[in-house]
Amino acid sequence: MTTTTTARSTSASRGGSAVGLTDLHRHYGPVRALDGLTIELSPGELVALLGPSGCGKTTALRIVAGLEQATSGSVRIAGTDVSGTPTNKRDIGMVFQAYSLFPHMTARRNVEFGMRMRGKANPKRAGEMLELVGLSTESDRYPHQMSGGQQQRVALARALAVEPAVLLLDEPLSALDAKVRVQLRDEIRRIQLDLGTTTLFVTHDQEEALAIADRVGVMRAGQLEQLDTPTDLYLKPTSGFVADFVGTVNRIGAQVHDGRALMLGAEAPILPGSITSGPGVALVRPEHLTLVAADDGNGRVILSTFLGATGRTRVTLGTGETVNALVPSHLVEQLSPGTHVRVTLRDAALLVVPTP
Ligand code: ATP
Repeated sequence: MTTTTTARSTSASRGGSAVGLTDLHRHYGPVRALDGLTIELSPGELVALLGPSGCGKTTALRIVAGLEQATSGSVRIAGTDVSGTPTNKRDIGMVFQAYSLFPHMTARRNVEFGMRMRGKANPKRAGEMLELVGLSTESDRYPHQMSGGQQQRVALARALAVEPAVLLLDEPLSALDAKVRVQLRDEIRRIQLDLGTTTLFVTHDQEEALAIADRVGVMRAGQLEQLDTPTDLYLKPTSGFVADFVGTVNRIGAQVHDGRALMLGAEAPILPGSITSGPGVALVRPEHLTLVAADDGNGRVILSTFLGATGRTRVTLGTGETVNALVPSHLVEQLSPGTHVRVTLRDAALLVVPTP
């Protein structure tokens, strides 16, 4: 959290826009891969583009890279329209899902080659970049002598060695196993903050996006559904789509009246984007429900699962609705199936959407 705040205030203090995508459209016959995408990245900011398969994330990144032409719209890097500029003349570094290293070159040679291609050969810097990604002792290894995570570090060093104005990352972690993925994700963030490189990071993994980004843009059908800080995206989703895609939600019937949602025998403030009155469906995070055993409660436990640090309990409410609540793991044994419970709402603002 601290680092994120630092990055954001740094970006804000530098001002201006480092990268601007304006009203981008990309049509493939009848398919609208992008349908009016506009995003501005501040200098030094890391924005993650998140969304379901086929929503246009990769297309957006490829257009910024110059690997794909937009049907209409423009891309600016550091204030200059680069829509007609070839990839190798754009001031960018790229890392893709596939490691894409030259197999016959050592790690160091791979990094040096990337710099030579841009006319920025500098063996000392190649060494420094490999050190930055934690590979100083592996620099003379060939790709086949390195793990997937190490190869992706080399690809990152190669992309950053040319000191690009913009770093483009397209699912760079998806070929790695879960543990390496988290380690490298944190490393990428550390390095990006160190160097202050403006970065666009494409992923379909919500945890990855929330963990790494200053702001996350959730895309849907070629458009931006919501662009916000991770905290606001999670706690203040503006649509059911975002609430569902980022984290999990329970759907509980509610009445909206005077800017408040009435449900589970209590009242909660409502978020912008909610219906303004009448019956609707409140979207409630599992951690915003509390459970206590009570014979005269409003629900009955169906299943309790011990998950180590936490537990999850599934409850059928008197209304017939089923909800999941996050519970302290030491309560899991007490909340066995059949237990009558009282389900209440913690203090949280809720999005209330129309009843389907
Ligand atoms: P994923 O997470 O699966 O990689 P994505 O969000 O990156 O998906 P894109 O690869 O940008 O999605 O694709 C967006 C849409 O455009 C999809 O419907 C895809 O099938 C379509 N599309 C992409 N490239 C082409 C192409 N060259 N020809 C035709 N359709 C394409």
